[in-house]
Amino acid sequence: MRYDYIIVGSGLYGSVFAHEAARLGHACLVVERRPHVGGNVYCEMRDGIPVHMYGAHIFHTSSRRVWEYVNQFVDFNGFVNSPVANYRGKLYNLPFNMNTFHEMWGVVTPDEAEAVIARQRESAAAAIKGEPKNLEEQAILLVGTDIYETLIKGYTEKQWGRPCSKLPAFIIRRLPVRLTYDNNYFNDRYQGIPIGKGGEPDGYNSLIGSLLDDEKITVERGVDFLRERGRFEKHLSGGATIIYTGAIDEYFGYDYGELSYRGLRFEMEKIDSENYQGVAAMNFTDTEPAYTRIIEHRHFLRGACESKATWITREYPAEWRRGDEAYYPVNDEENKSLYEKYRELAKKEKNVVFGGRLGEYRYYDMDKVTEQALDTAKSIL
Ligand code: FAD
Ligand code: UDP
Repeated sequence: MRYDYIIVGSGLYGSVFAHEAARLGHACLVVERRPHVGGNVYCEMRDGIPVHMYGAHIFHTSSRRVWEYVNQFVDFNGFVNSPVANYRGKLYNLPFNMNTFHEMWGVVTPDEAEAVIARQRESAAAAIKGEPKNLEEQAILLVGTDIYETLIKGYTEKQWGRPCSKLPAFIIRRLPVRLTYDNNYFNDRYQGIPIGKGGEPDGYNSLIGSLLDDEKITVERGVDFLRERGRFEKHLSGGATIIYTGAIDEYFGYDYGELSYRGLRFEMEKIDSENYQGVAAMNFTDTEPAYTRIIEHRHFLRGACESKATWITREYPAEWRRGDEAYYPVNDEENKSLYEKYRELAKKEKNVVFGGRLGEYRYYDMDKVTEQALDTAKSIL
């Protein structure tokens, strides 16, 4: 068999690219080192509940192009992410909005909330000169010191394993701040959890399954491309292009040293109850407990679940070491300049395209990854 494309990684990026290439008649080999396809969006059915095995995944986008693209393969169930923060047993709505401000200060009107934030911002502003230089300064400017101390500092330092003053400001800018009573975590126009076209609840698997369902696509699971590269030489010398979605530093044997990543450990538990915490995601914002959030997967189904049991995941941030799954790129200045060095090497690599969260070392959400894969397909196919 002759392949035109060898796609390393069957996550969303690799699967979208493979689908587009196969649609145009190109023969594709997808090489995946995990025992399953889908990368981090993979779900496992447990007691009729799709358990997000690599952390909660909510699809959200403002791109009509991306939304229409994924809707060819799956439907969406209208789930709206409204997580709750738990600080020492007291609960606050997220993202930061009038509900949060009411819970924190008892304020009722937007003007009252704005006045409290402005007072706290002003007393901190003397120490913050010009543009916020790190996550701590950015958070205080956005929501004041009370919310920073209660809902951001502990969570963020657990999540990233370093002080907020040493983290880039953009991480917190992802979260909306609103002076309305609106608990929708995302500002995007479209949002939901996918369900199969036949109503199957394991939507991300249906999405990846449909993307890869083409006679022009062959999938090999449990194969590490970098370790077994020799096996693919005949295709490469025959002119195949590699679409590589693994970690860029790993591809180059860590020649310039390791990029920093944040690891995660997921602890799954079956509980003999139909409703454990009443919400899909509860964030624990103090430094204790050691986990950042508990996900209760059945709530992603919005009641469309017959199971008498429930599955939860406690998500523990972890130091990343070589060989572990790399979940979050740490896009601080030091790592960004190291990435640029790898990027220069990547440009010189003939017939290899680097893409996806790890290939581009970017904190991409699923919609951005889909868009990038579509753009790459459009430009090279
Ligand atoms: P991946 O899904 O990481 O796929 C890469 C694949 O390549 C993996 O399957 C890996 O095994 C394989 N691979 C790597 N190296 C090799 C090799 N040498 N040989 C063979 N195979 C290899 N985004 C959202 O939009 N909404 C969310 O709610 C959301 N929640 C998230 C929660 C967590 C905890 C995390 C970590 C991410 C979350 N994301 C979310 C981001 C989302 O997971 C990514 O945008 C998306 O999955 C990235 O797809 P990808 O194809 O780039 O990478
Ligand atoms: N964050 C926080 N408190 C929370 C939730 C998030 O301080 O309760 C901060 C934290 O720094 C985190 C960032 O906001 O890294 C982005 O959160 P998001 O939920 O977007 O992260 P992800 O789902 O990618 O882990």
